[in-house]
Amino acid sequence: MSRATDAFEALSVAMQDNSPACKDDDRFISDDVPAATLAPICRTCSVYDLCAAFGELDRPKAGTWAGKRYKTNAKKRGDQ
Ligand code: SF4
Repeated sequence: MSRATDAFEALSVAMQDNSPACKDDDRFISDDVPAATLAPICRTCSVYDLCAAFGELDRPKAGTWAGKRYKTNAKKRGDQ
């Protein structure tokens, strides 16, 4: 297993007992909502550290992860 897969597994396990702040919030999967808008919500999330660890390892091309986007075509770092 890769480190990213391990991190995702840890995040998934944690989310079974701790509902993430983004649950049922479609803005986190939208490309039209700036990550900076969602980052304050992430900072209140009980699984923030695990989500951030996965994001940094996997750099998902879709969605917002721990207040960041990892799209390679982001216009500027501030949009990530
Ligand atoms: S830290 Fe991750 S799991 Fe928590 S609200 Fe943000 S994107 Fe969702």
